[in-house]
Amino acid sequence: MKISLTSYGAAREVTGSRHLLTVGGKRILIDCGFFQGKRKESEAKNREVPFDPASIDAAVLTHGHLDHCGGYPVLGKNGFKAPIFATAPTAEIAGIVMADCAHIQEGDARWLKKKAAKKGLPDPGIEPLYDHEDVPPIVKLMRPVRYGARTEILPGIFLTLTDAGHILGSAMAVFEIGDVRFGFSGDLGRCHMPILRDPQFPGQLDHFVCESTYGNRVHDEFATAENEVAEIVSESWKRGGKVLIPAFAIGRTQEIVWLLHRLVDEGRLPADIEIWVDSPMGMNVTEVFRKHPECYDEETKQAFTDHHENPFGFSQLRYVKDVMESKALSQSNKPAVVIASSGMCESGRICHHLAAQVGNPATTVMLVGYMAEHTLGRALAEKRPYVRIYGEEYAVKSRLKNMNAFSAHADSRETIDFMKPFDRSRLKNVFLVHGETPALEALREKVGATGVKQVTIVEPRTEYEV
Ligand SMILES: [Zn+2]
Repeated sequence: MKISLTSYGAAREVTGSRHLLTVGGKRILIDCGFFQGKRKESEAKNREVPFDPASIDAAVLTHGHLDHCGGYPVLGKNGFKAPIFATAPTAEIAGIVMADCAHIQEGDARWLKKKAAKKGLPDPGIEPLYDHEDVPPIVKLMRPVRYGARTEILPGIFLTLTDAGHILGSAMAVFEIGDVRFGFSGDLGRCHMPILRDPQFPGQLDHFVCESTYGNRVHDEFATAENEVAEIVSESWKRGGKVLIPAFAIGRTQEIVWLLHRLVDEGRLPADIEIWVDSPMGMNVTEVFRKHPECYDEETKQAFTDHHENPFGFSQLRYVKDVMESKALSQSNKPAVVIASSGMCESGRICHHLAAQVGNPATTVMLVGYMAEHTLGRALAEKRPYVRIYGEEYAVKSRLKNMNAFSAHADSRETIDFMKPFDRSRLKNVFLVHGETPALEALREKVGATGVKQVTIVEPRTEYEV
């Protein structure tokens, strides 16, 4: 039977994950994410439907990040009706993330219309890719599966999801087709990270599609982050400044809250410090985290849930209620820690916090996540003297701290360690996706050096028959 792989996104790039596995005449879609980056370019990519959505027989969602789930509603508008297999927390998180994405698009379209009208220009005719009504039909297609349960998703094709340790509910997908085992890493997490269990070995494979985000980098140990965060926050408190933390609403926000909670409990932060989570989606996703303690690691169980304590609630922590409160908070120079999304500062409330504070030398911007090319987050990470926010130029005077211990993605060393137990006499191919070219090339060399017969950098829209 012919088995082949074609990637329509996250090939030679890090966003827009969408991989098609064809088995005989059957077509299985693994993830359908949103493209992020240069606005016009990603808008065009998100609008395009490069295959017939009605021809998909089954789909799998590895986790709820936007760059893995955000494209499904576009497919839904174009005839997609296949079941989407995912863990229960992933289905819940993806529902929140897609709804948020629809909301942002509707808001942007309205704003552009208003802006044109103000200037006396004609309606730019920008339609959202999808709106809030396009999300529920996709949520209805979700079929929750438990980690480790072997499910026949199509006649003779079995799927098993194993814990990827990346965000709550994240999974690797292994397909069994006869005696061929074909695995997808999804986003590969790391060992010893807060809240989550370590990535689980998916068993022996014949073919493995692996992400490469940090194929050319090595992260700091998470333990170092704890000390660094304690220092940065205490120091800026003494100077009377704010700490702004752009964070993905999913995963990173909860990790930061978890860490600050531990630091407060240990008496390592000023007792009267105010910590704000300014992200409606962050709040909703935190509720999903709270509801699924079965996904926590032992450390989190021992530190919090064994004592019936909520890891995501403590007296110094506040959740911003509405936009008015958020705006007031952004204008205030009172020392506080503010965690707001989006993680790459492309949208969301972090933008007005940055607009109000990047020019303030007392403020510290703490960058804790991956910043894709052409994003505001990347410009800050590169310490550019000027940045553009909402189309206006701002001089950057605030302090910038880049931390790389928080990453939810395995680095090159961790990826190689993860692949160690694979039997090289069985593993025929490692396909590398989800990375920028330097990372892909570095990882290809490293994986090749461990005795894998063939390591392929996946080119977009190229069919690989195995
Ligand atoms: Zn992810």
